[in-house]
Amino acid sequence: MAQLLDGKAHAQRILDEVRTQVAGRASAGARPPCLAVVLVGEDPASQVYVRGKVKACAETGIRSLEFRPPAELPQAELEALIDRLNADPEVDGILVQLPLPGHQDAKRALHRIAPGKDVDGFHPVNQGLLLEGLPGLRPCTPSACMRMLAAHGVALKGLHAVVLGRSEIVGKPMALMLLEQHATVTIAHSRTRDLPGLCRQADLLVAAVGRPGLVEGSWIKPGAVVVDVGINRIEDPDLGQRIFRAEPRKLATLRDKGAVLCGDVRFGEAMEVASAVTPVPGGVGPLTIAGLMANTLQASLPG
Ligand code: NAD
Repeated sequence: MAQLLDGKAHAQRILDEVRTQVAGRASAGARPPCLAVVLVGEDPASQVYVRGKVKACAETGIRSLEFRPPAELPQAELEALIDRLNADPEVDGILVQLPLPGHQDAKRALHRIAPGKDVDGFHPVNQGLLLEGLPGLRPCTPSACMRMLAAHGVALKGLHAVVLGRSEIVGKPMALMLLEQHATVTIAHSRTRDLPGLCRQADLLVAAVGRPGLVEGSWIKPGAVVVDVGINRIEDPDLGQRIFRAEPRKLATLRDKGAVLCGDVRFGEAMEVASAVTPVPGGVGPLTIAGLMANTLQASLPG
């Protein structure tokens, strides 16, 4: 049976550390760090994520400002809001919650954020610094995965890491961070041939795809470490029957509540083959929010 990589516990340690540093700076007379969160429209999942982020701010002593313009907000007005926040000396970090409504150009909006306030680490300047291995604000989710691996003493040097997914938010920065730690990295995606065969070569498998239960137990090399970034809400009982064969509890939740959260990896099957696995929920997700708090603190520091 694999070891469970408990994201919640690590997240709590990071939040405690941020809280201590924020309090220390406050007692030296510094104002608290400030995160501005922009949520355009009323996407229910985004509302849940934003609530989690605002709550983490409150827990760590970070001040949060919420901007919730309606979904119809014109692109120019969104950019004007970002410009105002860029210019506001009281604001240290700016987060534009994704996805944006269809008429808005997310890349243009994200590129508008001043790199020093880009606490999500999505601006090309920060992505470029990561590419060069230089310090900067790094994307929270892959940073969270790296923290989790370090906390569990996974020696990355020389191991073969397969990253499923090539998004700018998770897959690509994850691959760069693993490379920086001397792993041999393969990035796989929707056009990759023989995905199961490739995954079976992985000492470390990171799944960031958004396809519930894509990775079966038979895709995992015995003893591999599996990090599941995917967060999927499923309602389909037939899909549940297929992917939760080794997880009667999830199946029961799906039956009783009509929906359940799961990752890209068939968790129950992975636990039988791997040496360590992150759960969904309770794995990478809480660590991502903790990483956002750490980035906001970093953005507030002088220099
Ligand atoms: P995305 O849609 O931008 O990218 C998905 C990637 O998966 C693409 O590169 C695509 O090529 C690849 N892909 C799609 N279908 C595939 C298939 N059948 N086989 C192999 N590759 C395939 O998604 P994203 O923003 O990178 O997010 C991925 C998942 O991670 C989603 O479930 C998202 O909700 C979750 N996520 C979780 C956190 C967290 O905090 N835990 C943060 C960000 C994203």
